[in-house]
Amino acid sequence: QKAEWAKLKDEPSVTSDNVQVELVANIGTPDDVDGVLRNGGEGVGLYRTEFLYMGKTSLPTEEEQFEAYKAVLEGLGKEKPVVVRTLDIGGDKELDYLDLPKELNPFLGFRAIRFCLERDDIFRTQLRALLRASVYGNLKIMFPMVATVDEFRQAKELLLEEKDNLKQEGVEVSDDIEVGIMVEIPSTAVIARQFAKEVDFFSIGTNDLIQYTMAADRMNEKVSYLYQPYHPAILNLVHNVIEAAHAEGKWSGMCGEMAGDPIAIPILLGLGLDEFSMSATSILPARSQLRKLSKEQIAARKDELLSKSTTEEVVELVKEITE
Ligand code: PEP
Ligand code: MG
Repeated sequence: QKAEWAKLKDEPSVTSDNVQVELVANIGTPDDVDGVLRNGGEGVGLYRTEFLYMGKTSLPTEEEQFEAYKAVLEGLGKEKPVVVRTLDIGGDKELDYLDLPKELNPFLGFRAIRFCLERDDIFRTQLRALLRASVYGNLKIMFPMVATVDEFRQAKELLLEEKDNLKQEGVEVSDDIEVGIMVEIPSTAVIARQFAKEVDFFSIGTNDLIQYTMAADRMNEKVSYLYQPYHPAILNLVHNVIEAAHAEGKWSGMCGEMAGDPIAIPILLGLGLDEFSMSATSILPARSQLRKLSKEQIAARKDELLSKSTTEEVVELVKEITE
């Protein structure tokens, strides 16, 4: 099996009926780039920038961040896309040196874009570093935990302001950076139509989307039985997001664990997902699996899949379709 996968390293990610999708990787540091290339990744679908801020005693400087973003962009080359997610702290990721107040429900609290919009000094530093690095590759910027269209507008406004500032300082900045959002909060998945008019792309963050939709803490063993990726509620939200993107000529990816899951892959393909972002080591197995799947065949059963009542029924139908 390993030998078969290795042969697919430089092959495109196509289905048996010749539909091409993108298989990209989730990374956390510039050191991960090697693994992406070795595993035939077509780009980076999620660069979690939190690691730059963690395990330190103070905030990373603009220069430190610029070097890290540049290293990743250069590592992937001019063509391969790199989706960088702006700071997503809070929830399960704390930063001691910021001395944030303890919260009763950190996962429902002051985190990610909420934090960045209030501490725009910290956010602007990151945006400047990203903009400066943009000329070294194919950069896309993504905001995490967006719950309202207003949050997206505010974040994008700050990005445009920093872009203007840099240009006035005579710094070169790329003019075709796509700006998108993670869809990981149900409110955003529900009105994806409205978001799709303003964003360049979506990346569905199922790790959080599942916990918020099912109201089941992703860290709590007692309720882990409710954490069901193939639950019809999740599939209907995912489908809504993909359709909304396509209706506006945009693309939709997924960067939660679900995107690399062999049971989910046929479903997501059938629902029309364009980009699958996963751990690097899952890419070749996923490519191998895709080559044996017919998108047409699964898509023809889409309505049936979406109208199932339980996870078990969904799984049963997927097996039937793909056998
Ligand atoms: C997600 O929520 O699906 C995601 C990719 O982000 P994280 O796991 O970093 O919260
Ligand atoms: Mg998340």
